[in-house]
Amino acid sequence: LPEIAFAGRSNVGKSSLLNLLTGRKKLARVSGSPGKTRTINFYLINDSFRIVDLPGYGYAKVSKSVTENWGDMMETYFDNRKGLRKVVQLVDVRHKPTAQDMQMYEYLRHYGLDGIVVATKADKVSKSELSKNISMIRKTLGLSAEDKVIPISALKKTGYDQLLLEIEKILEE
Ligand code: GDP
Repeated sequence: LPEIAFAGRSNVGKSSLLNLLTGRKKLARVSGSPGKTRTINFYLINDSFRIVDLPGYGYAKVSKSVTENWGDMMETYFDNRKGLRKVVQLVDVRHKPTAQDMQMYEYLRHYGLDGIVVATKADKVSKSELSKNISMIRKTLGLSAEDKVIPISALKKTGYDQLLLEIEKILEE
């Protein structure tokens, strides 16, 4: 089955977005304890594709072995999932993407899985800040004109219809 994965640092709002996308509450655990062994979770949607919840990265407190473990897990996943079509990169709309966000995006580029970025927590900024911050995100991640940055608020439930359209497009390719 085709798969669409979601990546982002811990606390970016991934669980909230995935709960919204899958229409099921608490499907993904919201704010689990950082540093614990994390796993990749798969959710079957309409018997036609899978949404993949990649473990959040970037907790300052996690040990080096956990970080290395995370990298190994990602590599194994990216190397072996034949159905993987795209990895949606999540960044917090309020902040400049972190070094780890940039590293993650480079990784996606390397695997040809890049191209869709979701800017989370869009309700937390004004309209003018939103467009300014999206430009900043584009610049920091080095996006090209055809790459998408989709602002989403899981709180206000806005923006995810556009993401669903992009997912449909990917699944039709
Ligand atoms: P995860 O660690 O990436 O899975 O992030 P969570 O979904 O657990 O969200 C982290 C925190 O951000 C929680 O306190 C959420 O309530 C909050 N949050 C997530 N999405 C939004 C959003 O769109 N708007 C606002 N205002 N808060 C959000």
